[in-house]
Amino acid sequence: MKRTLLLSALVGMGISWGAAVPDSTNGWGYGYDSLLRDLGEWRKSPYVKVDSIGASVQGRAIWMVSISGPGDSLDRAGGLPSRKRRVFIHARTHPAEVQAHYVSNESIRFLLDTGSLSRDIRRDFIFNIVPMYNPDGVQEGHARQNSHGVDLESNWDQLVLEPEVVTLKRTFESFMAGPIPIDVALNLHSDQFNCTRFFFFHYAAGTSTAYEILERNFIGGVQARFPEGIKDWDFVRSWGNGTQLRYPEGFWWTGYKENVLALTYEDTNCPNAGRFDSTGTALVLGSADYIRARIAAPVRRYAARETRMLLLPEGVRIAALPSGSRWDLTDMRGRRMAEGAFVPGDILLSWNRLPSAPGRILSVFRPGIAAERIRLPNLPD
Ligand SMILES: [Zn+2]
Repeated sequence: MKRTLLLSALVGMGISWGAAVPDSTNGWGYGYDSLLRDLGEWRKSPYVKVDSIGASVQGRAIWMVSISGPGDSLDRAGGLPSRKRRVFIHARTHPAEVQAHYVSNESIRFLLDTGSLSRDIRRDFIFNIVPMYNPDGVQEGHARQNSHGVDLESNWDQLVLEPEVVTLKRTFESFMAGPIPIDVALNLHSDQFNCTRFFFFHYAAGTSTAYEILERNFIGGVQARFPEGIKDWDFVRSWGNGTQLRYPEGFWWTGYKENVLALTYEDTNCPNAGRFDSTGTALVLGSADYIRARIAAPVRRYAARETRMLLLPEGVRIAALPSGSRWDLTDMRGRRMAEGAFVPGDILLSWNRLPSAPGRILSVFRPGIAAERIRLPNLPD
């Protein structure tokens, strides 16, 4: 662990000194062979699993590093059933933005640290990290494109998707359909104009007022872990004209709304680059803080089976339903007592819409996702 730390610190320093003239012929200073070498080191840890999730145009594997540890006690204190939560990070869409890789590298290093902070995060979370999403572009020395000359960052709304985009999209979708969906999805880049560290904040015009609050919470939380390093949430505001479907965050918003906090982070692609360890650690801790706070926040007057359905004094709050979602209420024999469709944004089912009966079950059906069910308590009148 210490050796990796020292190595990456030295490499990071070399990159920041040499940033004025990045060497595109050598994978911009960190090529595919460097990644294979690091994968070999990382996979020696008992907490690491390395998988190929697909292949690039030229057939290079797109590698995902999954990190987690024993236990899953995140919810235990609050009486909710425990399960791990998932954070997904992908980096190096744009090959020249090698700082994004160094940040993801430092996130991995922190997740594998022997300290109790890292151990608790491994216990409560699964981190899936794709350090090099565009390996062909890295090897061919492109600044932004893959080997077809396509910018993978803004390709998500095309009729025919690039193989790299298909790979990432399929990975996202398969996690979202599984028992441990993604809570936070980060897309790491580095920026050569502002020469500072910041997130792209998405206006309510392209998301929702509720999502703006989540974004502010998230960005503020990461910033609190690296106060002098990361800009305020409103440093860059985007999506003032609506959802931008060409980006991965447009995919996330369209399909999963407030369920997934999806943001692009920009490190600095300038001679002042550095502090990758502080940034990588802040992204991990900030993500963990955000998810823990979101789980702890619900009113716990009645234990909810799933945090996506929260029992509140005024009704059942259901977070972030995509259009086409519906619900029904059945009694203990499975007979339907009430049903309805959700309009997007309609997230509170008031108690007066839910006829009283012993053992009644509320089911929520989202398109493409397994139904979620909750047994409703009998409320005093
Ligand atoms: Zn970029």
